[in-house]
Amino acid sequence: MNAEHHAVSAGTTDTADDGRPDLSNSNVREDLAMAGRCALVHLPTGRTCLLPLRHQGPCEFHRPQEAEDVVAGGS
Ligand SMILES: [Zn+2]
Repeated sequence: MNAEHHAVSAGTTDTADDGRPDLSNSNVREDLAMAGRCALVHLPTGRTCLLPLRHQGPCEFHRPQEAEDVVAGGS
């Protein structure tokens, strides 16, 4: 084993490279995205798109309460 200095091992693990350039980050709810939803957040209203990932057409924003139901696995 070679105990050399590990030069700045960047602590960035880029796993968010899933071919969704639209999901830069801040305006998407990760928990909903994990649930297979579009998860785009309409910032002015705080509503979230609950349509399936990569759905056709415009986003449909729902209340946070409904989003919680989706995250909770209810449907
Ligand atoms: Zn959407």
